[in-house]
Amino acid sequence: MTAAYEYETHEYDVVVVGAGGAGLRATLGMAEQGLRTACVTKVFPTRSHTVAAQGGIAASLSNMGPDHWQWHMYDTVKGSDWLGDTDAMEYLAREAPKAVYELEHYGVPFSRTEEGKIYQRPFGGHTTEFGEGPAVQRTCAAADRTGHAILHTLYGQSLKNNAEFYVEYFAIDLIMSDEGQCQGVVCWKLDDGTMHVFNAKMVVLATGGYGRAYFSATSAHTCTGDGGGMVARAGLALQDMEFVQFHPTGIYGSGCLITEGARGEGGYLTNSEGERFMERYAPQYKDLAPRDYVSRSMTMEIREGRGVGEHGDHIHLNLSHLPSEALAERLPGISESAKIFAGVDVTKEPIPVLPTVHYNMGGIPTNYWGEVLNPTADDPTAVVPGLMAVGEAGCASVHGANRLGSNSLIDLVVFGRAAAIRAGKVVDAGSANPVLNQSQIDKAFDRFDGLRHAKGSISTADLRLEMQRTMQGDAAVFRTSETMAEGVTKMTAIAAKLDDLAVTDRSLVWNSDLMETLELTNLMPNALATIVGAEAREESRGAHAHEDFTTRDDEKWRVHTVSRVDGNKVDLTYRPVITDRLTTEAEGGISEQKIAPKARTF
Ligand SMILES: Cc1cc2nc3c(=O)[nH]c(=O)nc-3n(C[C@H](O)[C@H](O)[C@H](O)COP(=O)(O)OP(=O)(O)OC[C@H]3O[C@@H](n4cnc5c(N)ncnc54)[C@H](O)[C@@H]3O)c2cc1C
Repeated sequence: MTAAYEYETHEYDVVVVGAGGAGLRATLGMAEQGLRTACVTKVFPTRSHTVAAQGGIAASLSNMGPDHWQWHMYDTVKGSDWLGDTDAMEYLAREAPKAVYELEHYGVPFSRTEEGKIYQRPFGGHTTEFGEGPAVQRTCAAADRTGHAILHTLYGQSLKNNAEFYVEYFAIDLIMSDEGQCQGVVCWKLDDGTMHVFNAKMVVLATGGYGRAYFSATSAHTCTGDGGGMVARAGLALQDMEFVQFHPTGIYGSGCLITEGARGEGGYLTNSEGERFMERYAPQYKDLAPRDYVSRSMTMEIREGRGVGEHGDHIHLNLSHLPSEALAERLPGISESAKIFAGVDVTKEPIPVLPTVHYNMGGIPTNYWGEVLNPTADDPTAVVPGLMAVGEAGCASVHGANRLGSNSLIDLVVFGRAAAIRAGKVVDAGSANPVLNQSQIDKAFDRFDGLRHAKGSISTADLRLEMQRTMQGDAAVFRTSETMAEGVTKMTAIAAKLDDLAVTDRSLVWNSDLMETLELTNLMPNALATIVGAEAREESRGAHAHEDFTTRDDEKWRVHTVSRVDGNKVDLTYRPVITDRLTTEAEGGISEQKIAPKARTF
């Protein structure tokens, strides 16, 4: 029997789900194009995880020394360990300066150089001369609160352009037509328990990452992969989920992030012998090697008995040699975090740090216009009509197997903007909205109602903890065939327990038990796809460090993993990496030979 929920229907040209950097940049762009745009978000826009981004946003502005978009593209290709799609990476690097100047004009209060230009700091993996030259200062920063500055500015601009916000509305499921077109989304209004159906010609998923599938993560508790969950339930694909980034410097214990900008400003890591060990692992870039590399080096030091602390299980990040004015001006936020979360005065003592889950390279597959792909053997780039995905929820794929620091914020604004440009072309503001597929709306309410009245034997919090512990242990910085096989078995059993959940609160108003349950049903398919994809990939590439297959195997594995999750089963297929450039060398683009796969050295 169908659960009876009354609902209100809202019609728009575009509905954006998510109000982080990606969602807001898309919302603003769509509204600027004259499309009637709604932005639905489960938290107040400026509380989205983007607000926590500290270090900055990459663009080759050349404000602090020579730089070039081709160098940025090269670094991104290399950082991705040759798993990124070339067309998307070119688009990212080429459009980045434009997107940052736009942010400046919208009002983002960037830090400034003496001459009044946007301040840029060095970040891991960003170099000059196609990796031949020294590190470059490419990361534009507003002190160590760049995400905060961007989010507040974009929210203000979106309001100015008459985008309509639906705040504290939780998107439950997509509404798909029988022909596979997305027609809208079903939502639950958290503060009064009413139900809402958004009917749109284009739905944009900008729901962020799923860091909370792990026990220790730098991401907000709201980063639960809701977009990926909705897509999986609609029978659509997730891509490259096995690539999970561990940030080298989460504060030991709390997981709270210390930005890479701390090393960009001159901070360095030491082991129990006081040795600056990164000089051994990465003689050229030292502490500013890419994140996967630094995280692995730290883990190796700890394993070999050179960790610090009572249990020898973490590493020190040193900043006390930096002038206190520089710390106060450039890194005020992290000085405060170190004090609160580690009880450390950074002007005097090192910060205890440990690699911590930070970013999901994988997500909902898209082309570089943000259009969601439904890859098939015949057509690996088939587009799902009416559906886009941007930001950390999406996988364009510009980060491939490993994202460079400061390349996510630029991904949000470049592809948020690209999605709006594309929607301006494919969405006809004058046309009628699609006729909604009622059976899909009923299905969403049935699922919701089933969870609301769930009378099983395991609480959401307990099941979530089982999942988080398993992911932390078995899909870690280093992985073996044995741990991953064990992880797959455990996660398959854990996912089956979703049918045995117990929800105690049956109300509809501010029911956080039910909301967290919905979030758990979203985390689970993301987590499952991660461990199953990881177990299958018999090579080491970027963030996927397989101890039984330690080399990168381009012959067999330079392919995207495409996973479809149905209940606790994952079906894997693969699609080729896109190697086409948007511009040839003759047109001013990068040469094919420059970006051809080679061994990574730092
Ligand atoms: C601590 C930290 C520091 C970082 N620092 C940097 C940095 O310096 N530079 C850099 O490039 N990257 C950085 N990153 C990465 C980067 O900040 C994130 O990848 C990025 O902000 C993600 O933005 P987003 O717009 O995709 O999603 P988010 O900012 O996570 O926003 C997600 C949005 O989706 C909404 N939402 C989710 N589910 C639902 C649902 N079911 N219904 C309705 N709404 C929903 C939420 O309300 C929210 O508005 C950092 C990440 C972290 C965690």
